Amino acid sequence: MSFSDLGLAPELLRAIADQGYTEPTPVQAKAIPPILQGQDVMAAAQTGTGKTAGFTLPMLHRLLEFANTSVSPARHPVRALILTPTRELAAQVQDSVKTYGKHIALRSAVVYGGVHIDPQIAELRAGVEILVATPGRLLDHLGQKTVNLSQVQFLVLDEADRMLDMGFLPDIKRILATLPAKRQSLLFSATYSDEIRGLAKQLLTDPVSVEVARRNSATETVTHLVYKVESAAKRDLLNHLIKSRDMRQVLVFCSPKIGANRLASKLDKAGDGAARRPRHRPP
Ligand code: AMP
Repeated sequence: MSFSDLGLAPELLRAIADQGYTEPTPVQAKAIPPILQGQDVMAAAQTGTGKTAGFTLPMLHRLLEFANTSVSPARHPVRALILTPTRELAAQVQDSVKTYGKHIALRSAVVYGGVHIDPQIAELRAGVEILVATPGRLLDHLGQKTVNLSQVQFLVLDEADRMLDMGFLPDIKRILATLPAKRQSLLFSATYSDEIRGLAKQLLTDPVSVEVARRNSATETVTHLVYKVESAAKRDLLNHLIKSRDMRQVLVFCSPKIGANRLASKLDKAGDGAARRPRHRPP
């Protein structure tokens, strides 16, 4: 599978090649085709999976027809809105928009709180097709009428679970109320809670569901076993497992810290001098 198999425009393929990417990551391979077709997508993807390019590349492709170099702000209405939970993520996402869109005449801006609003107002006034924003500051702009979202046709909620954890749901709902009903919407989230499903139901129409393996999931060569025992029997069981299987190197995770200390001295006493001092998690 290559990026050109996905049907992305030559301008995007050039930007991808400039980055040195040779093939799409799993979330890109699964999410890009339905997004290019105009479908809504709900994707379970964590940071590090390549999710940002997974929505940015097809978004840019769908906005290609609007690329222009006119100086008139009226020719650059906000057509795509990407909401993120933090300003750091917002800045990173805009970096990606710039990187992947460098051969396309579309403008982007990022707005988040904690910095002066005036430079953001100037940028918005000049016109941008792609706006990356954190919810609170975007509402400030909406309140001051320094942004107009009436032409948004593409919406992304990035790290939606974190936005809900941070209490942004009321803000998100107020923002959604200002958007045209007819639009393509994408929801990216590392986890799926009932709250996320509720939001998805409200936000998405016939969404395509995209799931990829968790980045930090155990490899297939690792077997997980669970032994249900009384708390008092745990140490004896561990001793038994280590001895009966002649284990030479064993990592034991336990909690709390004091439990780790007790376990280590118990294992020391149990013979073979096998136990090492426990390592505590760094603060
Ligand atoms: P993300 O999950 O969006 O935060 O991306 C994680 C990292 O993967 C970023 O540094 C990207 O530059 C990189 N990346 C995204 N797509 C690809 C790809 N197809 N091949 C190699 N690296 C990629």
